[in-house]
Amino acid sequence: MLPYGRQSVSEEDVEAVVAVLRGDWLTTGPAVDAFEAALSEAVGGHPVVTTTSGTAALHTAYDSLGIGAGDEVVTTPMTFVATASTASMHGATIVFADVDPETALVDPAAVEAALTPRTKVVAAVDYAGQPCDYAALTAVARDAGALVLADAAHSFGGSLDGRPVGDLADLTALSFFPTKNLTTGEGGAVVHKDPALGQRAREFHNIGLVRDPARFREVDPGGWHQEVHALGLNYRLTDVACALGLSQLRRLATFKKRRSEIVARYRAGLADVDGLRLVEQVPGSDPLWHLFPVRVLDGRRREVYERMRAAGIGVQVNYVPVYWHPVYEDLGYRRGLCPNAEQFYAEQLSLPLFVELRDEDVDRVVETLTELLR
Ligand SMILES: *Cc1c(COP(=O)(O)O)cnc(C)c1O
Repeated sequence: MLPYGRQSVSEEDVEAVVAVLRGDWLTTGPAVDAFEAALSEAVGGHPVVTTTSGTAALHTAYDSLGIGAGDEVVTTPMTFVATASTASMHGATIVFADVDPETALVDPAAVEAALTPRTKVVAAVDYAGQPCDYAALTAVARDAGALVLADAAHSFGGSLDGRPVGDLADLTALSFFPTKNLTTGEGGAVVHKDPALGQRAREFHNIGLVRDPARFREVDPGGWHQEVHALGLNYRLTDVACALGLSQLRRLATFKKRRSEIVARYRAGLADVDGLRLVEQVPGSDPLWHLFPVRVLDGRRREVYERMRAAGIGVQVNYVPVYWHPVYEDLGYRRGLCPNAEQFYAEQLSLPLFVELRDEDVDRVVETLTELLR
């Protein structure tokens, strides 16, 4: 079965990991610092904290903003559940804003309509790798006194109007899961523009430990002393994982080029197929495409999904609208809330897209899909 996504691991990646295994540090050592510094450079120089997953990155981001019961987070239903669930875990209320029917990116006008005096965060998702309209989102969020969080699990390595992903929102969460744009196995990172919030994220992902003597409550303690001032978790990414990430990061431009070539080949092959609609590229964007989503019209998505899989092509559906999950249904969210997202979901299919996908594979996907829809 051709997967819809998978990692690309080179001999250099393997050697980088092996070198760490032969060294002194397995966990929090020099590879973590080096990977965080390299990530920081890639996102416009903002402080970066690596985490054990993208989910952990989102949880850390929400914690750093101090959200809790009574606060509202406005987000999109067209995402992986973690964008919302990690805020729900802190007691916040999720308010869903509908998406643009063409791009599946959250619609700034829908966000504006969803804002209340209790809104603390607008969490946007760069669906498929396309950056959201952060200028518009930031403008409406500022009016409500809210900050903008980019869930950039799909979009790391891309840019909008010449600014890299990671520099577009107040804070940004990344994922390094194997299907994503670069991988550390499991892994993620949070980017903060505000260094004070970045410091809170750093402490939360390290159990809340404070090691700076200038901040100790204890007067003149011994050299072993450390304090916890706020609760945290152990979300530290290891040196082993960061060595892989650092090595992968060196090939990010190659990854971007190959994924763009595949997207162009799909676009050329599928442009005139009846019963199929492609997602338009956002003006001003230079995406690193994570997904290649198409829309299968005329109620045929399930049939096409099943017949593509039967043909050995591992298509995927991204995503079940978040509030359809029973955990949100049980909180009272009802179907029909965001009609554009639900329509998009009903038609959506992700075609295989990964660095090592060959042109012959792309052509087979195009031919199989074209034949099915004839
Ligand atoms: C993958 C993903 C996450 C979660 O990342 P993990 O590393 O799998 O925990 C969050 N949001 C979106 C949009 C994702 O695609």
